[in-house]
Amino acid sequence: MTGAPEDVKRKVAAAVDALADELEALSHRIHATPELAFTEEKAHAWLTEFLDRRGARVERGVGGLPTAFRATIPGTGPGPTIAILAEYDALPGIGHACGHNVIATAGTGAGAAIAIALATLPWPGRVQVIGTPAEEGGAGKVRLMEAGLFRDVDAAMMVHGRSGTRVWRPTLGIMKVKVEFHGEAAHASSWPWRGVNALNAVIQLFVSLDHLRQQIRPDARIHGIITKGGDQPNIIPEHTSAEFYLRAMTTDHVRGLERRFRDAAEAAATATGCRVTITSDPTIHEPMKANETMARLFGRNLELIGFPEDPDDPEAGYGSTDCGNVSQALPTIHPYVRISPDGVPGHSREFAEWARSPMARAGMVAGAKALAFTALDLVASSEALARAKQDFNAT
Ligand SMILES: [Zn+2]
Ligand SMILES: [Zn+2]
Repeated sequence: MTGAPEDVKRKVAAAVDALADELEALSHRIHATPELAFTEEKAHAWLTEFLDRRGARVERGVGGLPTAFRATIPGTGPGPTIAILAEYDALPGIGHACGHNVIATAGTGAGAAIAIALATLPWPGRVQVIGTPAEEGGAGKVRLMEAGLFRDVDAAMMVHGRSGTRVWRPTLGIMKVKVEFHGEAAHASSWPWRGVNALNAVIQLFVSLDHLRQQIRPDARIHGIITKGGDQPNIIPEHTSAEFYLRAMTTDHVRGLERRFRDAAEAAATATGCRVTITSDPTIHEPMKANETMARLFGRNLELIGFPEDPDDPEAGYGSTDCGNVSQALPTIHPYVRISPDGVPGHSREFAEWARSPMARAGMVAGAKALAFTALDLVASSEALARAKQDFNAT
């Protein structure tokens, strides 16, 4: 299977290297200014300015999301569209503990390097960098898909930082569920028997879910937080709320978990005399669908730049991503590049520190090169793209 010629890749790699200091500075600036889902105004401004200055055609606020963008590097005529995705949102409280500053600068670096090295692609088609807000909790990519932003995209790719380089790892489907219990307030000391305790209901639900966990598949996950546990100890809590994520390897299995979750919540309400309302988020994050052809191209490009894949870490479980929904709609890959030593968990303060380390710079540079090369392979070779589409349609 042919792809983009090596001399083109060498030029693009040199452009990434020339941009590396600026990309790292931008990565650190985003890291130092963590912005939550849908409010990534500064990152959006910096990234679009970076691409604009390198000659990409930038559209800001696309798909009805003010912090989304699309930057296009055109080819010689009509042809396939290959999208490189960039995330840049942070987590509440722990900042860039998912390393989206590295995703942002790897994706933007890939696009900027192609624009500098080639100006116009020597083939028909185009490469786009799509800035996708709100991966953590907002499903920004699903909103952009609904707005039609991926309608003309033939294949999509992104990289994510991790404690090891892996071309493929599964991700879990995920459903978000909110629960509210309504009881009755009363003086907690002088009239407790006149109250109906909504905190007991939420505690009962957590206990039931702990029991349920024993009976679910080992790769499924149920986890939650209490978002309201009451107002003051001398009042029997009349209203409590909690939020949960239900995850599993298939969307069907996620729906099965939801049914059992609802039974547990209703039972907790019955047991405590409360009323319950259960609200499931209509957007399910779907599991990633693998694409062997694209993964193989990406792996080959990693070898080309001397940034080889690591063995998988059998200790680690799986996360979820709104990129899963993209992968169920069109050929997509979501490989991981090493930005921390082995065994550092994502969403930890330790990982947030590694996301601004020299190792993160190396992962970002390698990610930018491998993304750019793989995107160019797919534009240059109609055979490669056809095989990626075959893979997609075969499963
Ligand atoms: Zn994350
Ligand atoms: Zn992430």
